Order: sequence, then C-alpha cells, then structure tokens
Amino acid sequence: MKNLKNALLLKQLYLLKQLGYNYTSLTPFKESEQSFTLPNRLDKLKSQADECHLCELSKSRSSTVFGEGNPNAVLMFIGEAPSAAEDSAAKPFVGRSGEMLTKMIENVLKVSRKDVYVSNIVKCKPANNTAPTPTQAHTCQPYLLKEIELVKPKIIIALGATAYHYLTGDDSDISKIRGTVHKMENYTLVPTYHPSYLLRNPSAKKDVFEDLKTIKDLIKD
Ligand code: URA
Repeated sequence: MKNLKNALLLKQLYLLKQLGYNYTSLTPFKESEQSFTLPNRLDKLKSQADECHLCELSKSRSSTVFGEGNPNAVLMFIGEAPSAAEDSAAKPFVGRSGEMLTKMIENVLKVSRKDVYVSNIVKCKPANNTAPTPTQAHTCQPYLLKEIELVKPKIIIALGATAYHYLTGDDSDISKIRGTVHKMENYTLVPTYHPSYLLRNPSAKKDVFEDLKTIKDLIKD
C-alpha cells in the first residue's frame, strides 16, 4: 500500500508542478487515510484499475486487463502480465497461453474455467512482451492483494517464476519449487510452470500434470 500512496502523491505533485508551483508543502494533500484505501467491491476495484495511471505501462496499453472469473472462487490462478491478445480483449489469458490454461483447468482439474478466478501480477501489457519491472509489479500490487482479499481463494496457483516471486519474495528457480505447497496466512500457494512455457516446452506438461494432481488433492482437503 505504501507504493500506491507514494505514486498517488507523486502524481499530485506533478500536477502542481504543471500548474506552476515550484515548491509546496504536503499540506494541500492532507487527505484522510481513507482516500488511499481501495474499494471493497471487485467491480469498483476494476473501475479504479481501468483509470489507473500510476506507472508507465498505462501509457502504452489499449486496455487494462483486470482479473475475471468467479468472485467466490476456491481456486485463483495468477499469471505475469497481459500480452497483446489480452490487451486487445481486455481479458486475462485469452491468447494461446489462455487456451493452454483453460485445458489445465478443465481437462485436468475438471473444473469449469468460469468457476475459477484468473488474474495477473500487473494489469497492463509490458512493452515487447518483457516481464514487468519490480517498480511496475510493486506499483500494481495493491490491486492484486485487494483481489485476493475480496475473492478469498483457498488455493492460489502461481503461474511461473514471476508470479511466484512477487507473491512470496522468493526468487528460486521455478523448476526447483514447482509443485511445492506453501501455507500462506490466508491461502495455500502452489507454483507451477506458466502455460506459455508449456507451449515452448511440451515435455514439461507431465510436471504440470503432477502439480495439478497436488492441487486436486488440496481442493478435497
Ligand atoms: N500471460 C500472462 O501471464 N497473463 C496473461 O493474461 C496472458 C499471458
């Protein structure tokens, strides 16, 4: 939340600079803490993210790609960032990696995709399909944390190293930690390979199949 506050403050100071201020104390912005809190409804949170200009990704996006799915889902899948297909559709995981994710959910877990919730570490497409920078990921983090708080999933599946890293702070190699079960404060976290890694390395599908079996067992517990 500190990052969001600082980014909002910076935005306000830029605005004052554009208006001709050379110096200002923070007095004009003595707002209540409440003005920095995010809404407690997913639809309102989405509207706020749609209007977000807190990092440079907002300048190049066609659309913000907020999470979607069952607002009371037991399973939440978190990817890295939207790519071009998602940026055009304004929906997460709709391209080829989306098809792969849907197969993982529906063919292996035997759960309908509409019954899970799918989101990303950042809500706007990074340039040239690169991973989000730490600043972009941290600036966007309050939206994701609020989504998690509101959906209250039992199990979060981190899709790939970037998602796992920003959810835990751990930058272990994904090949070493995939399929491991992490008891977090309010949910259980299981990292697995990102669907686009599976498109490039089909032989890794057997590992993901094992990870999904672990998740199936956790759903039953
Ligand atoms: N890759 C991701 O990590 N997220 C998407 O939404 C699409 C592709």
